Amino acid sequence: MEKVAIVGCGSYMDQGYGCPGEWRCLKAASLGEGKFGTPSQVTAFIKCECPGRTIVPSIGMAIKLSEIKPDKIYLSSCLAGAVPGCPYSSTKELASIIKEKTGIDVVLGTHDYH
Ligand code: SF4
Repeated sequence: MEKVAIVGCGSYMDQGYGCPGEWRCLKAASLGEGKFGTPSQVTAFIKCECPGRTIVPSIGMAIKLSEIKPDKIYLSSCLAGAVPGCPYSSTKELASIIKEKTGIDVVLGTHDYH
């Protein structure tokens, strides 16, 4: 089973109704729905915080403390599909920074639930 880390938009997680960290990403990962395609083990759930500069060190710390390097890193649907979008960086830009710094493939989005 694939091991995955999920990164959520902290701004939305703190302010949105029905935070995506409650169940949507976790359900999609466990059932292999949405962008996962196959049931996956979530080994870390990381919160991006504005303006996004902590995201790479936070991922690094999650990997270090859990002692598990994920096979893939997913940017949650609340982050990758945000409308209006993140004011600090594009999703593609964020994904390429994470990929460059960690060497781990990054997937944009997690689920299609409402
Ligand atoms: S930097 Fe962008 S993606 Fe990260 S928490 Fe802030 S609004 Fe969300």
